[in-house]
Amino acid sequence: MSVATESAGTFASLNPATGEVVGEHAVHDDAAVAGAVARAREAAGWWSALGWKERRLRLLNVKGSLTRNLNRMAELIHQETGKPLQDAQLETVMAISHLDWAARHAGKVLGPRSVYPGLMAINQRCVVEYQPLGVVGVIGPWNYPVFTPMGSIAYALAAGNAVVFKPSEFTPGVGVLLADLVAAVVPEHPVLQTVTGLGPAGAALAASPDVDKIAFTGSARTARLVMAACARNLTPIVAECGGKDACIVDADADLDAAADAALWGAMANAGQTCIGVERIYVVDEVYDRFLGALADRARDLRPGFDREAAYGPITMPGRLDVIEGHIQDALDRGARAVVGGAGSVRGPYVEPVVLTGVPDDAAAVREETFGPTVTVHRVKDLDEAVEKANRTGYGLAGTIFSGSRSRAMDAARRMRSGMTSINAFAGFAQVAALPFGGVGESGFGRVHGADGLREFARPKAITRQRFTAMNLASFSRTEQ
Ligand code: NAD
Repeated sequence: MSVATESAGTFASLNPATGEVVGEHAVHDDAAVAGAVARAREAAGWWSALGWKERRLRLLNVKGSLTRNLNRMAELIHQETGKPLQDAQLETVMAISHLDWAARHAGKVLGPRSVYPGLMAINQRCVVEYQPLGVVGVIGPWNYPVFTPMGSIAYALAAGNAVVFKPSEFTPGVGVLLADLVAAVVPEHPVLQTVTGLGPAGAALAASPDVDKIAFTGSARTARLVMAACARNLTPIVAECGGKDACIVDADADLDAAADAALWGAMANAGQTCIGVERIYVVDEVYDRFLGALADRARDLRPGFDREAAYGPITMPGRLDVIEGHIQDALDRGARAVVGGAGSVRGPYVEPVVLTGVPDDAAAVREETFGPTVTVHRVKDLDEAVEKANRTGYGLAGTIFSGSRSRAMDAARRMRSGMTSINAFAGFAQVAALPFGGVGESGFGRVHGADGLREFARPKAITRQRFTAMNLASFSRTEQ
């Protein structure tokens, strides 16, 4: 079973490019969510008892099924988000890589390990075992509707948990298809169920006393609501929220490579990327050359829903006003639009916008814009670049282009972010093996990699006395 059955009505997901209905889905109410959680509890017992090897096999079968259905999944993502089909295909491949990594590494990372107990307990044998939590609730966003949730779902399943997934109301079909594909390969118990609906379905999951952990990805505003709901039951949460990521360009950077990467970071997926480049700090000596290279490239990009389009529409119509507001506010405060301008917002599409001279306290520099817009700033050196990059409440990812490995490494360490990439867009830091997550308003906890597996397991300490009191006593008598 992929979807809880009881529901209180339906809602439609729409193609943001054409306005056409993509699918009708149930609005699952509190009772439906509770039913899914109860079924997940049962499934969790069965799934965890299967053991590492059998789970690995099953998850690699799920990987095979998702690979065979790659085009079906990508087409649905294309329809529900509006992103180009090839981007949707790439996203699905990235999701598959999570399944593969988590399945192959769970036994190794979470298998029992003996530890040295320390001098005060030298007569103890100490073992740490990683036990599944039970039921994990995954609440996902729409911008990468299969890749992002899979960054939690794959690791939670591999660690031996059952999952109830609440996809975004903009991309419910992707969530339903994912659960169907898992159910086809693991028919015995619903180890992954999808509940659909608007915010309240997610709220019901977060408030459930029978959910052992919530993995939330979305805005910082919703993360606060989720945390408040979780607080009632002391349900732990891992929160992956937004960003206002910076790219830094040093005086000796490869400017063509930097312009290519910054452009991709800023404009891919119409800028609707949590680790998208929203601000660029360029050292004075190369500022004009870099800006020229970036602007030339940005002018060539065209949004659309066809195969040649660089990126698609804004998926959430409500975000168009926010994007336009950030651009207009910057222009009103003396910024210059080097590419595009306020008129570039022509719903559902936004043409590329490159702004310079934007004051540091403008919304376009402080708040997540989540559109194909970027601000470019002149700085005197790398130190000023890092200091300004760090002037935000967010701290998800960062990118540094520099010809000096040691300067770049030093700056990377000083950037207030969960990850920093040198000489490549930070998207490359999102590989399955590396911990992914932010600081500050970007959230807490880590998904992906070994740390991501440990997020969904409970370390259990077991000690065993090596010498009994009796043989210790005889030991001390012999000593005398
Ligand atoms: P959102 O916060 O509006 O919604 C996220 C999810 O929360 C949706 O499924 C929504 O239905 C659900 N929700 C809404 N109200 C809820 C409530 N009261 N209780 C529980 N769940 C509720 O975010 P969005 O617009 O879907 O996604 C965009 C945001 O996600 C951006 O800020 C983006 O940067 C961030 N994001 C972060 C990452 C990351 O890994 N850090 C990845 C992708 C997106």
